[in-house]
Amino acid sequence: MNILIINAGSSSLKYQLIDADQKQLLAKGLCERIGINGSQLKHQPNDSEPVIIKTQMNNHSDAIKLVVDALLSPTHGVISSMSEIGAVGHRVVHGGEYFKQSVIIDESVKKAIENCIELAPLHNPPNLIGIEACEHIMPNVPQVAVFDTAFHQTIPQEAYMYAIPYEYYEKYKIRKYGFHGTSHKYVSQRAAAILGKPLEQLKLVTLHLGNGSSVTAINKGKSVDTSMGFTPLAGVPMGTRSGDIDPAIVFFLMEKEHLSIEEISDILNKHSGVCGISGISSDLRDLDNAVAQGDKKAELALDIFAYNVRKYIGTYSAIMGGLDAVVFTAGIGENNSEMRKIIVNGLTYKGIKIDPEKNKVKGVEADVSADKATVRTLVIPTNEELMIAMETFELVR
Ligand code: ADP
Repeated sequence: MNILIINAGSSSLKYQLIDADQKQLLAKGLCERIGINGSQLKHQPNDSEPVIIKTQMNNHSDAIKLVVDALLSPTHGVISSMSEIGAVGHRVVHGGEYFKQSVIIDESVKKAIENCIELAPLHNPPNLIGIEACEHIMPNVPQVAVFDTAFHQTIPQEAYMYAIPYEYYEKYKIRKYGFHGTSHKYVSQRAAAILGKPLEQLKLVTLHLGNGSSVTAINKGKSVDTSMGFTPLAGVPMGTRSGDIDPAIVFFLMEKEHLSIEEISDILNKHSGVCGISGISSDLRDLDNAVAQGDKKAELALDIFAYNVRKYIGTYSAIMGGLDAVVFTAGIGENNSEMRKIIVNGLTYKGIKIDPEKNKVKGVEADVSADKATVRTLVIPTNEELMIAMETFELVR
């Protein structure tokens, strides 16, 4: 069965068509500038060059229609009839406490996604628009929602509650939700396959290190804690996000710099993290280049990043009472061997040790542990779209 994966943003829409039986990508693409002048679709069949289709898309329905036309095209299409799309899997950022797993979409599911808009004001509205556009263009095709937050719904209460007056949990549902759930779940399943052990027997720390980064403790296949929180601003320092800071810094800075809520939010979300420390870039490749030129702040930014990720490895192995493997994924985790080395540096006492030769890999699955390491270190490229396809397939078949 072919599954169409949709990741709808406010003015963009990413898609992949995946053959779920073969776990094979058939085509992928991106609609940009939806509702803005100069919109275009970049469509790429798996076995040929991308094509750019410049057509005005006034809304997400226009975009979905164009995607279906591209998939069916005699020149660059990959299917010959709409009936070859068995289901659509939608990436939805926030499922609140409503969804502990993926679900087939009906009116009550859409209502619950709408109820979570307050928790993800930038993401849930376009996700909903994408769902409704697909229902409109493909009325007979089942639609499934796969949530970034669902995998973390197994986190116990003592870990997801914040120590603020309980009434705010009741009134506003303020608690830890966690994000990147689809990615953490995918790499945990691959880790079990690579280690040749059932997930139910493993204690894992998965490190999703990209522009946005999060660390998750996975015990017996279940997320038991994760570094992002009520929002994706929490946890380790990121490209431009601060990660965990003393909350009193917020009031202090607002007072001293006469900042509005929007301004302080902008500083912590867009001008902090490794970018804020280095003053150079949010991209670790730029910081590596700066370090090579002797830039001390770039070096400090990388040290702060590595230190905080390392701290989470220790914390999470403590709460699980042990550790079988550390898993690196996403842009930095998959590609930046130097950062992997710095992060696990000093963890030999815990049985974590990397083999410098094996660690030279980029973007492929590998066990990079030293032979004597008692805790394995794995590199596993994430594949959120494949995970969404498989969950969608399971629900509709
Ligand atoms: P996002 O979180 O936006 O999906 P990524 O997962 O691509 O972003 O992560 C971006 C980070 O990953 C950047 O800091 C960048 O340095 C790093 N990165 C991405 N691709 C590579 C690569 N091929 N080689 C080295 N670093 C990479």
